[in-house]
Amino acid sequence: MTVDHPDADPLESLIARRGEAALETLEELRAADPPTTGGRVLSYVYDSGLEGVDRVAVRAAGLAHGVNGLDPTVFGSVARIHREIVQRVRAILGGDPGDGPDVDDDEVHGVVTSGGTESCVLACLAAREVAGRAPGSGGTIVAPVTVHAAFRKAAHVLGMRFVGVEVDPASGRVSAADLLGAVDRDTCLVVCSASSYPTGVIDPVEQVAAGLDAHHDPRIGLHVDACLGGLVLPFWPGGVGSTWDLRIGRVTSISADLHKYGFAPKGTSVLLSRGRTRHRASWFSTVDWPGYPVVNPTLSGSKPLEPAAAAWAVLEALGDDGQSELVARTARATAVLVEGLSGIEGLRVIDSDPGPLIAVVADGSVGDDQRVHPHLWADECGRRGIAVQAQPAYRQERGSLPSSSHLTITPVTERLTDEILTVARASADAVRGLPDPSPPAAFADVLAALEAGALSPGDLLALPEDDVHAMVSGVLGETGGDDDGMAPLLAAIERLPAEVGGRLVRAYLAAVME
Ligand SMILES: *Cc1c(COP(=O)(O)O)cnc(C)c1O
Repeated sequence: MTVDHPDADPLESLIARRGEAALETLEELRAADPPTTGGRVLSYVYDSGLEGVDRVAVRAAGLAHGVNGLDPTVFGSVARIHREIVQRVRAILGGDPGDGPDVDDDEVHGVVTSGGTESCVLACLAAREVAGRAPGSGGTIVAPVTVHAAFRKAAHVLGMRFVGVEVDPASGRVSAADLLGAVDRDTCLVVCSASSYPTGVIDPVEQVAAGLDAHHDPRIGLHVDACLGGLVLPFWPGGVGSTWDLRIGRVTSISADLHKYGFAPKGTSVLLSRGRTRHRASWFSTVDWPGYPVVNPTLSGSKPLEPAAAAWAVLEALGDDGQSELVARTARATAVLVEGLSGIEGLRVIDSDPGPLIAVVADGSVGDDQRVHPHLWADECGRRGIAVQAQPAYRQERGSLPSSSHLTITPVTERLTDEILTVARASADAVRGLPDPSPPAAFADVLAALEAGALSPGDLLALPEDDVHAMVSGVLGETGGDDDGMAPLLAAIERLPAEVGGRLVRAYLAAVME
């Protein structure tokens, strides 16, 4: 007779002891992070403000623990959860038959991905495949320059070319005519955002769709990047004033992140595509190896069910009424903050479309002594416990988009608007009239040499990685203190050619992680 006693395995007690120690360390590390709930971090995190939402997500993830999402033929829960997420998001985004004059039985299908970037990359891959273009053959992705960086990444990894169409520097808006003007025989995909992350603008999807319909090859895809807006704009009180979703028949795919306004933990987004051909064009499958038949609808092989299970449970728990109420809270908080921030002397809120994003710039209509630089302001807000996100100026031939600071508003923000505005005013008072931030001293020589023409961007790009590392480590030493803020680094980025800036921020992050 055997006694089934778990403690009989000596390894169990050893692991329990070391596990406890690791968990204690993790708890300390997390306590030092900025809070992911509570509303004091106005980017990266999307807080419903309801503890119950997070509890449902954590329990659902626990129940899904251990499942390999790679194979829905083995784990039936994977198929069911993915199918129901897709059905729900499709209904929200106007993709059910009969939803619009243009939506017919050419059904909309979808995949659940690990996040917005993966959804966008897969949309580009499908477009390249549908267009029949090989990597490196010059197939293009045409998008406003304000589109998310994920599309530049997609071009990079898929051997495509990114064609950025300039926007009006004052409003951040692209004209449909300019976007359509960049479409040619090489175009595989046109992208519009709803909304654009840096500006909050909703691109003119209807006009772009009409132009593509009338004048261009039907194989060219039209993707709507609703990673941010997909689960918030459809519920915005009073609507958003334009149609941008699958009710427009010429829209061929759309992405929406559940880990943003679906209030789910990180790791879940949806890509919906019109028609089976485009839907399956980005899948990878093979039987040409000695192992199991491989079918990957997304980029990963083995994958967790946890994030999708959590997102599914949160969708079920919230329902349309819960989602509407959370978005109503978000909209009210946004209105209060826009009004309050607009009243701060020296700052200006960019006028954008309805939605939960606010971008703040320096008010160009006041004198230098009254102006508030948005990056210095962001750093000051951070020191006072409210984290807003600095965005560098963006150079275009039509004139630069100015330096700005970004705020993502979530339902929890409504409880904090007074505190946020108090901090915003005090921070503006602290930096009003200060000169623009300057780059870190460690970059001074390089910047001076570049600007004098003694060094070319090519020279910098040719530097061995160890030299770049040494340069950036100097900056880390300089800005390592908690109190230095991001303004100097942003100032360097604004003055460097974009390729060089990209290489330097890569080295910077790598050094942080080493
Ligand atoms: C967040 C975002 C993405 C990318 O999503 P990740 O989930 O961060 O990979 C793409 N587009 C827009 C508009 C976004 O806001």
